[in-house]
Amino acid sequence: MSAVIDRQAVCGPVPQYPIAQAYEAGVVPIRFSGWPAAQPAPVYAALEGERDTDVVVVGAGLAGTSLTLHLAERGVRTVLLEADQPASGASGRNAGHVQPYLSSFEPLRAHRDEGRRFIETFTEQRNIVFELSRKHGLAADVEACGLLEVARRPQAALERQARLWKGMGYDVELVGGARVQEMLGTTLYIQGLHWREGGRVNPYLFTQGMAASAVRAGASVYGNSCVLACERDGSRWRVRTATGSVRAARVVLCTSGHAGNGFFPELARTQFPLVACGMATRPLPAAVLDAINPARVTLMQYPAGLYPLVIDGRGRLITATIPRHRQAQCAEVHFADFVRYLRRTYPGVGDAPIELESYWTGMTANSSSAYDAAYPKLYQVEQGVLALMNLGSWGNLMGPLLGMDLARALVADRPDDAILPLEQPQSVRLPGRFETKIRRVLIPAARLADRLDLV
Ligand SMILES: Cc1cc2nc3c(=O)[nH]c(=O)nc-3n(C[C@H](O)[C@H](O)[C@H](O)COP(=O)(O)OP(=O)(O)OC[C@H]3O[C@@H](n4cnc5c(N)ncnc54)[C@H](O)[C@@H]3O)c2cc1C
Repeated sequence: MSAVIDRQAVCGPVPQYPIAQAYEAGVVPIRFSGWPAAQPAPVYAALEGERDTDVVVVGAGLAGTSLTLHLAERGVRTVLLEADQPASGASGRNAGHVQPYLSSFEPLRAHRDEGRRFIETFTEQRNIVFELSRKHGLAADVEACGLLEVARRPQAALERQARLWKGMGYDVELVGGARVQEMLGTTLYIQGLHWREGGRVNPYLFTQGMAASAVRAGASVYGNSCVLACERDGSRWRVRTATGSVRAARVVLCTSGHAGNGFFPELARTQFPLVACGMATRPLPAAVLDAINPARVTLMQYPAGLYPLVIDGRGRLITATIPRHRQAQCAEVHFADFVRYLRRTYPGVGDAPIELESYWTGMTANSSSAYDAAYPKLYQVEQGVLALMNLGSWGNLMGPLLGMDLARALVADRPDDAILPLEQPQSVRLPGRFETKIRRVLIPAARLADRLDLV
């Protein structure tokens, strides 16, 4: 089977969206994101004419750039095709957290070995973001500053996590209110799980950096090259864009939650989409940052991560949340919520001015409607065509890790040896139900509970 789709349906330019719809769909132009640097990023030219290669990777996010980089490093001729420019999807729009642990092992029970290899590889490679940055000299503002997950009540789940991961060799500790207060400028949280691992990254610069490193390693990267069709060509595949085509033995789709899965429409039905919004303040004086997070640790709240927080290298607070129903475009509403939360939680902030620098949205693609069960997927779409996608809300570590692992398996010509099991794409039932549950029920309830001191 092959499929051809209408160009406008897949890669229509964003301006054709009314702006409110672009925010809802998480496709506002990437310049809206707070992560691109002031200096312009390299522009990758569009594919022209016909080419021949070993592997075509479609989609230059965290997954696709990592896969391309690791294939090229192993000497595999690889062409990466991106509809826009690298990092313009979810990877250039996320909250910058590098989470070094797994929230739940439950979904791994479906793996042949109950997830043993997955867990081993994940724990071994938990520093991959920092290591790749070091190895390739990526200027991606990465910091292994650790993570602190804080709660307003003692939480048995945090205690369990501490025991479990400490037993697995992690540098993690359950801390009480006094220590939380030393690390943060608030007495509101009385318990914390302090991971002295993981941290933060500028995901746009990191993804761009992997694309540039892939080129240095011998890969070809094309921007403005939306894939319109993927057709059989003898024993190989021909991948077409508006201006060229590439023939290859293998194709790997890393297109995530974008409409670009249209040429294999079954992939679009494998996921529960959830829109999220990101916000970056203008750089703040050290005194204000010290009133919030003197330890400069990456921060999450438990049980509901209402405002995960990083302080980046420019002294900005960066957060992400789920926008209110039908208000994804309302930057001022969401920023006012955030600033209210900051002033209520961190009294040391007082009435210091906090201004919005950037507001944007992005789309997460989740394989399950249960948050902790949303593990990434590796699909066998056709013979020779794979899809690595549905990275949920933890692509910063999973993208580089799974891209590297799939490259290893492809070089061995054993895609079935990847740490993710090869699955057939399966339609999920009621894809909108995850968004309804999170956006219309759980997050509004959590915001209210937080305000009323009920959590
Ligand atoms: C607001 C927000 C906050 C988040 N916070 C975090 C966090 O703190 N930590 C974390 O680990 N994760 C976080 N995530 C999740 C993380 O960003 C994603 O899991 C990750 O970026 C997914 O990477 P990807 O490579 O699969 O997809 P993407 O980055 O979306 O890349 C897919 C690419 O495919 C391209 N494409 C689509 N169709 C075509 C086509 N037909 N032809 C060519 N190219 C095509 C797109 O243009 C896009 O560039 C967050 C996500 C959002 C939206």
